[in-house]
Amino acid sequence: MQLYNTLSAEERAVMIDDAGKQRLTLSFYAYAKIEDPKKFRDDLFLAWNALDALGRIYVANEGINAQMSIPEENLEAFRTTLEAYDFMKGIRLNEAVEHDDHSFLKLTIKVRHKIVADGLNDDTFDVTNIGVHLKAKEFNEILDDPNTIVVDFRNHYESEVGHFKNAITPDVETFRESLPIINEQLQNHKEDKNLVMYCTGGIRCEKASAYFKHQGFKNVFQLEGGIINYAKQIEAEGLESKFIGKNFVFDNRLGERITDDIISQCHQCGKPCDNHTNCENDGCHLLFIQCDDCKAAMENCCSTECLEIIHMPLVDQVRLRTGKQVGNKVFRKGKSENLKFKHSGELPNTALAAAEKQVDIRQKVKVKKVLLGKAEHYYVKAQVGQFTIENHGLNIGDKILITGPTTGEQELILNKFIVDGAETTTAKIGDKVTFEVPFRIRLSDKLYKILN
Ligand SMILES: [Zn+2]
Ligand SMILES: [Zn+2]
Repeated sequence: MQLYNTLSAEERAVMIDDAGKQRLTLSFYAYAKIEDPKKFRDDLFLAWNALDALGRIYVANEGINAQMSIPEENLEAFRTTLEAYDFMKGIRLNEAVEHDDHSFLKLTIKVRHKIVADGLNDDTFDVTNIGVHLKAKEFNEILDDPNTIVVDFRNHYESEVGHFKNAITPDVETFRESLPIINEQLQNHKEDKNLVMYCTGGIRCEKASAYFKHQGFKNVFQLEGGIINYAKQIEAEGLESKFIGKNFVFDNRLGERITDDIISQCHQCGKPCDNHTNCENDGCHLLFIQCDDCKAAMENCCSTECLEIIHMPLVDQVRLRTGKQVGNKVFRKGKSENLKFKHSGELPNTALAAAEKQVDIRQKVKVKKVLLGKAEHYYVKAQVGQFTIENHGLNIGDKILITGPTTGEQELILNKFIVDGAETTTAKIGDKVTFEVPFRIRLSDKLYKILN
């Protein structure tokens, strides 16, 4: 019984492309009493692995917190695996605003002490006495109330690229740090103000709202489903977005655009920019904001030191980072001295620039394609190749892609091909197809059909 990943991220990325299927990025959470988290974890792994589901999931005695990528065609089957548990019947799945087939490349389910590291002792207050859940429209209305204080319960690197206008954005690196800071800051407003809170998907507010009610706050509200769900609702209902900028997300996309406002700067040159990246030096991996120009000049590094290191032989790089723990730096820091234009704490409520529509440089230009087969034979002089069709089929006029280590990526439109010695218009599985190519193909070059 396979209970863990057997594929590398790279192998998985190729498989996803070869399958050519749309994937959905989604998240959900549920607080519930789980008697045996280890068994729960293993059962989920088996059910989800069979559905080609990927993601990062935490389970604990207190529930489940999941961020995932699911093949679109398996969504209903996936929902069935959730609804097998009473506490997940009718659960809300927060679908991402922007999808990317590579948002997750592994299925990792971990048993943890808690599903969110909040640093709270749950036995000291009633965790079920939560704040009032607000939908986007109600949330907009309460933000207009002068008696409202709105607090961002995310970390500095998240609020830096996007937040609700006029929100308090604590300068913290972890959720647990923000709780006492906010409690202290709002000491004198426990009874007279509306304490309105939000986070990425709603989970952090579930516990925080109960904690603040326990601390004596009378009017506690939370954004239902967080920014992800808010963005969906303003789009569907044509509401004004009081959130500006990007919603930082914890997968390979690092952010999804909610409005065209760019409110942050490239940490290196100060140009308006809200694209996060991780330093190219594996011994650093700092999370920071970098524009395209700096990315090119600095080769995706955060500093000249890191730039020097990535040009060293690999053995020296490994020697330098031996004994250093860098794994947990991925989503932290961003506070390096080298980064001159970093902002946290008080943040602007207006845009520095507008993002160009549809151009998100963090997202690779993705081509939808399906694998048809491999090159079986080639004729050097005639520049002709023969491919065996193993999947789908081929038609005259199809746009195809031929790839291989030497061939690279070659796109062309097929105007003529031969099957069994005769010119024809379609080829099916099993057919050997011969056609001209304006370059030399190699044995085992892969043939794809481009779908868009
Ligand atoms: Zn820059
Ligand atoms: Zn670095």
